[in-house]
Amino acid sequence: MFVIKNVNVIPMTLGDEIIVDANVLITNERITSINGSIPPGATIIDGKGKWLIPGLIDMHVHVPTDIHFGSRYITQGATIFFDTQDIMTLYIANRVTTIFDLNSKAEHFGQRNEIGKGKVIRPRMALAALINGGSGPGRIVNTDYDGRQAVRSAKAEGYDCIKLYSQLNIETFKAIVDEARKQGMKTVGHIPDAFQGKLEQAFVPNFDLVAHAEEFSKQTTEYSDEDAKRFAKLMKDNGTWLSPTLITMVDILSQSRSLDELRTSPTLQYVHPLLQSKWLTANNYNKNTSAYRVAHFEKMVAFHNRLVRACKAAGVPIVAGTDTGVSGVVAGFALHDEIELLVAAGLTPKEAITSATRLSATWLGIDSLTGTVEAGKFADLILLDANPLSDVKNLRRISGIFVNGRWVNRFTIDTMLADLSKRNTAAEDDYDWKKMTGSK
Ligand SMILES: [Zn+2]
Repeated sequence: MFVIKNVNVIPMTLGDEIIVDANVLITNERITSINGSIPPGATIIDGKGKWLIPGLIDMHVHVPTDIHFGSRYITQGATIFFDTQDIMTLYIANRVTTIFDLNSKAEHFGQRNEIGKGKVIRPRMALAALINGGSGPGRIVNTDYDGRQAVRSAKAEGYDCIKLYSQLNIETFKAIVDEARKQGMKTVGHIPDAFQGKLEQAFVPNFDLVAHAEEFSKQTTEYSDEDAKRFAKLMKDNGTWLSPTLITMVDILSQSRSLDELRTSPTLQYVHPLLQSKWLTANNYNKNTSAYRVAHFEKMVAFHNRLVRACKAAGVPIVAGTDTGVSGVVAGFALHDEIELLVAAGLTPKEAITSATRLSATWLGIDSLTGTVEAGKFADLILLDANPLSDVKNLRRISGIFVNGRWVNRFTIDTMLADLSKRNTAAEDDYDWKKMTGSK
């Protein structure tokens, strides 16, 4: 049992009144009371002058899984194993207590099972099965009949949601969305290329979330406020939400200009050395760059901000996602970038934090468990040294977090990060993406 004493609670509920000087009781994994009686023997955490908010949710990540290099590998047939705790440490260190993986495989269930045994300090994981058309990548289906079967198979395998991908044809896309509705599964996706010029046809019931603002910037050459308003209206009328993943395009723009920012980024040391090598030596955004592409990405970055403002004005719910896994987008750290970018685009700090807490939990259907600070919910909690509503950067001023019924304080987090960085740096010479994959 833990009590966080004399803390200012920002519950992030719909009514959301700050509860000042509160005592929050936590028993096992749950919040048992706010300002209830304090039983003897509870471990006391001093919350005086601090702020308590719900743990953050990243609605778009790609968790790395073990890579088998097969015959291409220089020593033939080696597998690179990623340590689950090392992956999850970055989320925990950044107060991310739930992640949504948007291209999940059997290995992600393996990670989730490992986590379930309690050996790994981790975020909760929601898993989406990626379904695609054409010749890939992903689970490939190109007919109504096969699309529906792919959804039923994913449901039977235990996936939470369906991810729709770019090469689906129109008929199959609609069949998948409809079958997912029948199976009680939400859908999130790209807008397939087949809808080019007939965008409105993609907005069918149960197409629940557009995974990137970029899906809309692909649908225009004007990048105007009128376009943004038109796209927001399509979402609003269909009940579709948006996860803009602003940070992805900001990072892509940066890398298309130069790799200097990535190379000197203070968070790169926490990325597995194999991925560091990939990002720095085989970076497609940088390799295939041109003045034209840089200018194009600049326009997209500006348009994505317009789209966020248009969604806010139209009442389209926005959830915070990062597309972690894209080169330069570092797990956990990127969610803070995304929240700050949402504020820069026009959301208030409170709206941006809501997008990374209550709204995301609501979309995932886990709002009775997490996303707000209320008695009965999981103790997915962040203790901050300053009020994040007055400046969203205060989300970086962490005192500690609660996750899986454990209190992880600032010192422990710093120690975990320092240890990870040390091991990554020591192993740097062992990983060379180009040699291992034989790529140029
Ligand atoms: Zn993605």
